[in-house]
Amino acid sequence: MTSQLDNEQTAEEFDERHYHVRACEVMPDGVAGYSQLRSPQPLYLSHAEGARIFDIKGKDYIDYLLGAGPLILGHRHPAIASAVHSALDQAIPNVGVSTKQIELAERLRHHVPSMEYLRFLPTGTEGVQAAIRIARKFTGRDLIGKFEGGYHGQADNVMVSVSATSENRGTESDPKRVPYHCHLPKTVADLTVVLPFNNIEACSKIIERHADDLAVILIEPMLGFAGAIPAEQDFIDKLRLLTKKYGILLCFDEVITGFRLAMGGGQAHFRITPDLTVLGKAIGGGMPLAAVGGHKNIMDVLSVTNHPDDYVFQSGTFSAFPMSVAAGLATIDTMERDNTIQHTNEIGEMARTGLRDIVEDLDIAADVTGLGSLFHIHFTTKRVRSARDAEDANQKATLILHERLLNHGIHFYAGRLGFLSSAHGGDDIGYTLNTIRAVLEELQTEKILTKKQ
Ligand code: PMP
Repeated sequence: MTSQLDNEQTAEEFDERHYHVRACEVMPDGVAGYSQLRSPQPLYLSHAEGARIFDIKGKDYIDYLLGAGPLILGHRHPAIASAVHSALDQAIPNVGVSTKQIELAERLRHHVPSMEYLRFLPTGTEGVQAAIRIARKFTGRDLIGKFEGGYHGQADNVMVSVSATSENRGTESDPKRVPYHCHLPKTVADLTVVLPFNNIEACSKIIERHADDLAVILIEPMLGFAGAIPAEQDFIDKLRLLTKKYGILLCFDEVITGFRLAMGGGQAHFRITPDLTVLGKAIGGGMPLAAVGGHKNIMDVLSVTNHPDDYVFQSGTFSAFPMSVAAGLATIDTMERDNTIQHTNEIGEMARTGLRDIVEDLDIAADVTGLGSLFHIHFTTKRVRSARDAEDANQKATLILHERLLNHGIHFYAGRLGFLSSAHGGDDIGYTLNTIRAVLEELQTEKILTKKQ
């Protein structure tokens, strides 16, 4: 092992390289999943606390990834830790209905009233698939609609047009189905209709063409991993009308926006009542928890009692996992008590305004997007209203920015949106903005960034 290393390297560097070599022996790229990938190598973390993560060398980073979004209260929040410990001590198996599970369902419904009936699952992927299955049964139709840039988990039927390029995506009025880094069987892809985001004219035509066959349209009220791109009010209002007109269910995928744009998610922010909703990430405060819910009439297709011969199967070994339910309740308790949303929205606004001021001062061609506790910067001369606009921006510059920020103790999911938590404070945002300003100046000098035109 030592022979692979340069003599100048310190013991600490040896440690990281050593772990990387070991990890690459047993896992492709040495990671458990895509979100752990970093250039030049993944982070090797020892622990995390509040808004910070610490690597095995003891270096700390302000964390804007927060476990890919769930940690709305920051890392290792005492209320979550203690709730999870007590649940572990009680060790109630998931096959019995716990009173905590009932309470969590009641309290989620209080915050997201469109979820009249709901079910719990461990992940957003499963929540979305359950929503699709429910919608297909309820409508008797086969097709599902999704927007370009929408990420709805890792099942094949939604691994379509998650991202694309100007070469393969077709036009907005005739978007192509672009497989997202997988071999997508044509028979699977053909069941998914791709729609352009924030373009109601093009959308209406496509929806009308498939009106009799579309069971459900999935939408993130703000595209998350495509770059924190909010739906426009007029667009989402018209989409709601259109889906009602054709009897197509509208499903809000609020896995990212839930508990982040408001306690009631994107649907509270946009004042829209979807037919189905999927929540995930933040509702579990860092433990695996998702929920699918909607109007009672629709969710009733799951009832074995009401439809003994014809119910829709929905299950999972880890549904309503007691530790996750406990963490979910502790998250809601804390967020209600501390009015977390107000704080996270305020610092979100501080981050977005600060970034806008910087790009204005430096005369950089960029658009800052996001809502609530989510934000992103796109280097482009256009206003970013769709995944296409984000794809056409200088994505390489965002990657370089995030890579350099890592050297200054600031951690973003490379090239992706930033997540904030109740543990982030004004000082963190201030330091981050100052550092971003300095790095952007470097990128200007190096001609990686262009001026506004
Ligand atoms: N929907 C959205 C909007 C997401 O961002 C994600 C995950 N990033 C998912 C669904 C899938 O959730 P999970 O990773 O928990 O399966």
